[in-house]
Amino acid sequence: ERRIFSGVKPSGHLTLGNYLGAVRRWVQEDQHRADALFCVVDLHALTVEHDPARVRRLTRQAATLLLASGLDPELCTLFVQSHVDEHTRLSYLMECTATDGEMRRMIQYKEKSARERAGGGSVRLSLLTYPALMAADILVYGTHEVPVGEDQTQHVELARDLAQRFNQRYGPVFTVPRAVNPRVSARVMDLQDPTSKMGKSHAETAGIVYLLDEPDVVRKKVMRAVTDSGTEVRYDRTEQPGVANLLDILASCTDGKPEVLAEEFSSYGALKGATAEAVLEVLRPLQARHAELCADPSYVDGVLRAGAERARGLARPRVDEAYAAVGLLPPA
Ligand code: ATP
Ligand code: MG
Repeated sequence: ERRIFSGVKPSGHLTLGNYLGAVRRWVQEDQHRADALFCVVDLHALTVEHDPARVRRLTRQAATLLLASGLDPELCTLFVQSHVDEHTRLSYLMECTATDGEMRRMIQYKEKSARERAGGGSVRLSLLTYPALMAADILVYGTHEVPVGEDQTQHVELARDLAQRFNQRYGPVFTVPRAVNPRVSARVMDLQDPTSKMGKSHAETAGIVYLLDEPDVVRKKVMRAVTDSGTEVRYDRTEQPGVANLLDILASCTDGKPEVLAEEFSSYGALKGATAEAVLEVLRPLQARHAELCADPSYVDGVLRAGAERARGLARPRVDEAYAAVGLLPPA
């Protein structure tokens, strides 16, 4: 059976970008068509300055939101990364397979390390080695496909290179994975800065729609989205990134095509109004379900416990095999 793995970092509240770029596809397609594992990758939230209590809270919230979005524990495996030691065990072997040059070339490292330095902070070593842990997250399950937003494609390609390199050198231990992106909204842009990706950990929140935002807040954020000079509604990602972003969001929420939708609107105001309502349509059931699940934390705990147990069982033999393959003496 085909195996799918993907994850989300508890580095902030989940956004519309996370949902449209990744989670929705996990819910609507991936969990139905393969053995799918989804993970709240909490260790990755420690790569930048973090508040322990907040990370713990966000981890639970992310798991709850994934269930509220429609991940079904009968169909897929949902767990927390730090509950399965095999990820970090394998991560070390990935660090021994990758080169420092490869890590430094990662766009996300360049951007996030620049942001940390600009804020006067120092850069944690784990921010640089993050893709080794992410490769381990993927490879430890013999994953074939990794459904992610466009921004994560480079990391999945690195995981692919590492799997191939490891296999060539030590024997065929790992399945070689590939990234899959959604057709529309693989890259939802910030509503205030449509040339940069909407990201849950960004400090400026006016351009970010969070899945748990109140309806009025969502409306306000969408209505105040930065649009381009001009008045004509055209779908042109380079010349009109703000308008194109709204069209992408609307298309994604309504299963339409951005080019076709562009012809339906003669003003930016109308486009924004329709986009806000389409987003609310998507968020309403999700928020209702989230509220129900918050009232039943032991249900969420149970799902995560069972998920971690299954994940451990799948991961263990492959890590043992990898350890033996590189020359580590198996315990007697
Ligand atoms: P951070 O700012 O901390 O990196 P993030 O919003 O980028 O947070 P991640 O946990 O890094 O979220 O990514 C979770 C999933 O959501 C990944 O598959 C990623 O590609 C996808 N994703 C994140 N942001 C967007 C976006 N703006 N558009 C489409 N997909 C996105
Ligand atoms: Mg990210």
